[in-house]
Amino acid sequence: MGTTEGSTDSSADRTDAASSKTVSEGRASDSEGTAVLSASDLSVSYGKVAALRGISLQVGTEEIASVIGPNGAGKSTLANTISGFLGYEGSVRYRGAEVADRTVNALVSDGLIHCTETRDLFGYMSVEDNLRLGAYRRGEDAGDRLEYAYDLFPALAERTDQHARTMSGGEQQMLAIGRSLMGDPELLVLDEPTLGLASVILEDISEAIEEIRDDGVTVLLCEQNVTFAMNHADRIYLLENGEIARQGTPDDLSGDEYIRESYLGG
Ligand code: ATP
Repeated sequence: MGTTEGSTDSSADRTDAASSKTVSEGRASDSEGTAVLSASDLSVSYGKVAALRGISLQVGTEEIASVIGPNGAGKSTLANTISGFLGYEGSVRYRGAEVADRTVNALVSDGLIHCTETRDLFGYMSVEDNLRLGAYRRGEDAGDRLEYAYDLFPALAERTDQHARTMSGGEQQMLAIGRSLMGDPELLVLDEPTLGLASVILEDISEAIEEIRDDGVTVLLCEQNVTFAMNHADRIYLLENGEIARQGTPDDLSGDEYIRESYLGG
């Protein structure tokens, strides 16, 4: 899959997960308060494989919500569905409007920006060019956004001309997040931002996520690192085999015996 920012997908040619299903059935009402994002009875299948089953969740304005779960639980499927890449049954609403009724480009322009698990960097392009690409739909001078990304990740400011492919994994993750921020997101969907990163880099990513929240961005954090998610999220959804198995605040869930034993090492 290409970058969310770079996609030319449309609601008409969206990947055919759940293509045989209708989106109009089961749409949520408009009574979802101040939720930036809400899903209701959301299901997604890849052919016969049901990847998401009956998911309901909400992400409030300027909140960090986290979806945790093991490999194959459906986190990336959820992120891709929210961003408009996959067909679905049930409802997903971004700022009150059904995602399936919008093109991916329209969603990006409206501030729904997805930083994918695979990062989707352009390896033979410089740091700065990768960053600038994140702002292309804004159609304005990217200078302020560049400054913001460099302030957030000073390691990028030291490497403006370096090719993305020659950077460390941690630096590449910073670049991927930095590029997502160039689009001035209202909702930032972060898929596994800590995957494979050393703890020293996790601290940088941690600080950045808190700064992003302080700047008024709503974040959906899909994360396998449960401790990391608990340190940042206002509310957490545990996804297992495509279903929400638990939900609550970090305090609620850290007191849950099943979560402690299965995800926090007892
Ligand atoms: P990971 O953390 O390992 O990336 P995940 O929680 O993000 O896992 P998904 O990648 O969403 O999980 O996968 C959920 C299920 O859907 C898995 O059983 C996976 O094999 C299946 N799946 C994902 N993408 C596809 C696809 N394009 N075609 C068929 N099945 C898929």
